[in-house]
Amino acid sequence: MDNRDKIKVYIKEISEIKGKSSSKIIKVLKLELLERCLKRIGQFLETCDECNIYFQEIDDIISKVNEYVEKSDKNTLKEYRYQMKGIVEHLKKKHGLIDEGHYVSQYMTIGMTIGVSIGITMDNIAIGISLGIAVGVAIGSSYDAKAKKEGRVI
Ligand SMILES: [Zn+2]
Repeated sequence: MDNRDKIKVYIKEISEIKGKSSSKIIKVLKLELLERCLKRIGQFLETCDECNIYFQEIDDIISKVNEYVEKSDKNTLKEYRYQMKGIVEHLKKKHGLIDEGHYVSQYMTIGMTIGVSIGITMDNIAIGISLGIAVGVAIGSSYDAKAKKEGRVI
């Protein structure tokens, strides 16, 4: 079986797990993210050695997912999260990708900070903060949409 077929098999396995899991477990395990990471790694297999190493780990990762779905063991979840973090960090650092909602959270923080100082001059910090957050979210969303269009989101 070549890698392309393997990826298809993995994605099928993940969607089967999604099919039998509660929405809470899907969220806890970030199964959507796992699926997207897998597709991304697939894109870089020919050019990136590290992605190949991560690709070798996928079997193990999926078996951890299955184990967690069955037993809800916290240590399994911890190990799984650690492995996923490694993959996500690699995709960000080496391949310049970003998290979904990256710019919203970034600009929301900036907006909040600026909002506080505006709020102080207006003598109404609450309004300043909500104004700052609203503007930050608006700017961040447009950057996120742009990044998604350009295929830079994991
Ligand atoms: Zn890579």
